[in-house]
Amino acid sequence: MKEIAPASKGYEEGVEAGRRVASSWKPSRLTLPEKWRAAATEAANICGAGRGDLSEILDNLERWSREDLLDYATDLHRRKVDAFPDLKTFPELEGMDQYVDEYPRGYAEGAGIDIREVHLERHYEEMFLLALGGGRRSVRNCSECYIPNTPNGPMLGLGRDDIMAWYTDDPFGVSWPNPVEEPHQITDPPASNPDFGICLATGGGALFEFEEDRGEAIFPAPVLSLVQDNCTTTEEAVDMLIRYNDYWGPCNCVIGDSQGNGALVEKSKYQYAVRTSKGEPVTSTYGGVEDEELPRLCDTDNPLFKYYQRRVRVMRQTLADGEANGGIDGEVFWKAMLNHDEKGAGCQHRETMPTGVELFTHVAYYVLPAEKRVFRRTIGRDNGRVLYPCEVPVVEVRT
Ligand SMILES: [Zn+2]
Repeated sequence: MKEIAPASKGYEEGVEAGRRVASSWKPSRLTLPEKWRAAATEAANICGAGRGDLSEILDNLERWSREDLLDYATDLHRRKVDAFPDLKTFPELEGMDQYVDEYPRGYAEGAGIDIREVHLERHYEEMFLLALGGGRRSVRNCSECYIPNTPNGPMLGLGRDDIMAWYTDDPFGVSWPNPVEEPHQITDPPASNPDFGICLATGGGALFEFEEDRGEAIFPAPVLSLVQDNCTTTEEAVDMLIRYNDYWGPCNCVIGDSQGNGALVEKSKYQYAVRTSKGEPVTSTYGGVEDEELPRLCDTDNPLFKYYQRRVRVMRQTLADGEANGGIDGEVFWKAMLNHDEKGAGCQHRETMPTGVELFTHVAYYVLPAEKRVFRRTIGRDNGRVLYPCEVPVVEVRT
């Protein structure tokens, strides 16, 4: 484990960040009640409204004004800060209560905006899920894989699917997506002294429809960055993720280190299951769960759960075939992540998705942490036609 200094200077950092957006700030579209209604209507099952009466949910959303949302977010912020846990168990959080409280104050002053806007921006997702009245507790829809032994060292890959409503008011129209990203020469060399400890990616997870929410405010511990900053091995990362179980997710987390140790944490809001591997790929996607116990919390008849079972099997088979045919490289990764299997495509085209899987794939990428290189394929627009990640060139980017 590395030694990390306690959090401090929340106010100062907030002011600085606020000043950067002072002239251009406007409320995020994700904090607008009409956007919440659009998302719930477009993708009722994915949002977790599948078990509830959609018209009732929309009626409830109709009653929330934006003023209500701002007030609720402010109250939620206070309750979260008040729920600061004991530092004996969570020493990495030292100073964080003050930081989390001061940053919004600084940001609001720097940007010249109502502090309630900063709270709403921070908590909109939790509030949206609450407004849906139960069911899914995560809106992240990502697939992840860690491959320990490519010709370029370990690889961490991710594919991201989402609901269209979050992105634009002009679905697949002229304003979004951006034109197709073209490959270009990267001249700056990768950093010469890579400091690769662990890599991790989160996203996805099952719906966990049957898990009752306890309704407690939870301190907003930045668990994933704490793990990334403090841990150097997969074992350390898994220990820390378990210790902080109450403070992250529900979502899956794939972890890998430079020694070829991989792990997958599958997680509902309160429960988790861990699988580890040595020298083998670890793969996960959203909508379902592999552990034996956790499916008891899930509606396994949900179309998304069934889709998951097929999808993850195809991904794993593609990686296994790649391994058997000379090893896994970027090409094999793209095949695994962006295949078009009839009943469980990795690359999801909006036009061909089955009922209940209201998602499309907008980006996939992989990171080679030892080489500090990133390759990605992002949805693009070409003469009015939308090109999915499978149809666009691979572009190397520096982050
Ligand atoms: Zn495709």
